[in-house]
Amino acid sequence: MASIFSRIVHGEIPAAKIYEDDLTLAFLDINPASHGHALVICKQELAGLLDLPPELVAAVAQTTQRVARAINTVLQPEGMNIVQNNGAAAGQTVFHYHVHIIPRWGGDDVLLPWRPGQLSASERDALQAQLRAALA
Ligand code: AMP
Repeated sequence: MASIFSRIVHGEIPAAKIYEDDLTLAFLDINPASHGHALVICKQELAGLLDLPPELVAAVAQTTQRVARAINTVLQPEGMNIVQNNGAAAGQTVFHYHVHIIPRWGGDDVLLPWRPGQLSASERDALQAQLRAALA
């Protein structure tokens, strides 16, 4: 079954669309974390970052910057979070690749689930070596 975002792409359900090109679409989030919360999706139905070819990652990133600039001009937030969830464990609920643009104002009540942790020197060195080898 098509994702809810594919249904928006094909005009089967409504959305407050704000930008569209051949590869990407941006619209307002239906349950915004803050005023101006927008989503940027790739039109092709692919679940997460690891599923996209690099050119689609680039296309979504370019649209994200374009929409963020417009939000910045129109709403003049004090900051913006760019959030992209992959997998249910990471909070993804719609399995169709999308980037959140969340305008921020000091003292707003937006919650992002993050508590700074600890990394020992030995863990850091082992992880660094593993990842460098995987990326070589
Ligand atoms: P995520 O948890 O990263 O998968 O985010 C999914 C987002 O899609 C949530 O912020 C929802 O509020 C939003 N959303 C779900 N359905 C719609 C819809 N029909 N129109 C606009 N936004 C939606």
